[in-house]
Amino acid sequence: MKKIVIVGGGAGGLELATKLGKKLGKKGKAHITLVDKNRTHLWKPLLHELAAGSLDDGIDALSYRAHAKNHGFNFKLAPLADIDRTNKQIKLAKLIDTDGTEILPESKLDYDILVMALGSVSNDFNTKGVSDHCIFLDSPQQAKKFHHLMLNKYLQLGVQETKQVSVAIVGAGATGVELSAELYNSLEQVSSYGFEHINSTDLKVSLVEAGEKILPALPERISSSAHQELLKLGVDVRTQTMVTEATEKGLITKDGELIEADLIVWAAGIKAPNFLKEIAGLETNRINQLVVKQTLQTTLDDNIYALGDCACCALPGGGFVPPRAQSAHQMASLVAKNIIATLKEKPLCDYKYTDYGSLVSLSNYSTVGSLMGNLMKGSMKIEGRLARLVYISLYRMHQVALHGYFRTALITLVERINRVLRPRLKLH
Ligand SMILES: Cc1cc2nc3c(=O)[nH]c(=O)nc-3n(C[C@H](O)[C@H](O)[C@H](O)COP(=O)(O)OP(=O)(O)OC[C@H]3O[C@@H](n4cnc5c(N)ncnc54)[C@H](O)[C@@H]3O)c2cc1C
Repeated sequence: MKKIVIVGGGAGGLELATKLGKKLGKKGKAHITLVDKNRTHLWKPLLHELAAGSLDDGIDALSYRAHAKNHGFNFKLAPLADIDRTNKQIKLAKLIDTDGTEILPESKLDYDILVMALGSVSNDFNTKGVSDHCIFLDSPQQAKKFHHLMLNKYLQLGVQETKQVSVAIVGAGATGVELSAELYNSLEQVSSYGFEHINSTDLKVSLVEAGEKILPALPERISSSAHQELLKLGVDVRTQTMVTEATEKGLITKDGELIEADLIVWAAGIKAPNFLKEIAGLETNRINQLVVKQTLQTTLDDNIYALGDCACCALPGGGFVPPRAQSAHQMASLVAKNIIATLKEKPLCDYKYTDYGSLVSLSNYSTVGSLMGNLMKGSMKIEGRLARLVYISLYRMHQVALHGYFRTALITLVERINRVLRPRLKLH
């Protein structure tokens, strides 16, 4: 039986494992294994909510092992270290516990078809001090670390001469903009949980962007609409501000100004993990993404596919498929189709990216965006409740891909019940 190994159980990889598990694994037509370095899955676009405390991963995260059992695939907990293309094996690094002790030694896993779906990490562009003084929102662990530090800052407010909590966010893409708004929402919530002395002037968020406008990938009307909403909330939006260094006290700009901050989040661009750069002699680009053909097979090895943020896929009209959840979702469907076609010895299909638009959630305050991206040239602007509904439906689509319609409806119901039973904010 063919061995199909998927590395990375994120927005794309977990959907692919679920699809192949149902279509091949459960029917005994192939052996499907998902490898991830984490035990649970949380949809990455929710990380800013986890960081702000509006989401509790204890409730919302999905256990890979339980999901694998129900969907016909195996789960292996380990970080990928390397690929041995000659022997068709992947090398898995030691599994290390949070306290540094070794849980499992290095190991190897055979594959006939390998899918790389490892996502991306923040790109600090080698800016001085960033790795020492900034928090990245690359994983639930990092988002939780930010949340923990933020709660500590609230505890210190009014004590030890702490008069204001200041947060600087570098990069005004969707992550930076969404986190800015979410922090003001969580501040409103936190004051009702024994922090009555806290009000909106106790938080200062500086959103720092090197480009001319926030949300550079979105049309002007949408970015200016989001800009106005952020100003209303009290965010100090600084465009055309290049950060040259991060220090213990805050950010230093190209003009030598210090933007003071207790906490700094770096969200100024992405790259694929560094170890992919030279992996197994495969072709990569300058941000370590694996270059793929239109079939999503890597250019130098037909047995290895790449999808999502770690893949560099050219668009026929120029440019590249953007690193988004909707791209990962669409690529997962195509890779599933092509793997099934390979097993049936049928021709493979090409990937066609459909841009359904981009939506940016400004927490409970507003949602802005455009629909039908490349179908209507991003001209269909939506805002408010309708936009919020479409934004939430993106996550629902991911849940439907994992659980089907009936279970997703049940999960939605449980979420509603939890809103009554549980605090609006994670407080620990
Ligand atoms: C805060 C935030 C908000 C966002 N909002 C949006 C949005 O509104 N709309 C949108 O379209 N996109 C959004 N994005 C982008 C979106 O999250 C990504 O494009 C998408 O998650 C990419 O999917 P993926 O499957 O490629 O990778 P991911 O979802 O990142 O999954 C990668 C998986 O690989 C695993 N992994 C990594 N390294 C290893 C290793 N060495 N060994 C084993 N496993 C490994 C990880 O644990 C993870 O499970 C947002 C991103 C962030 C951070």
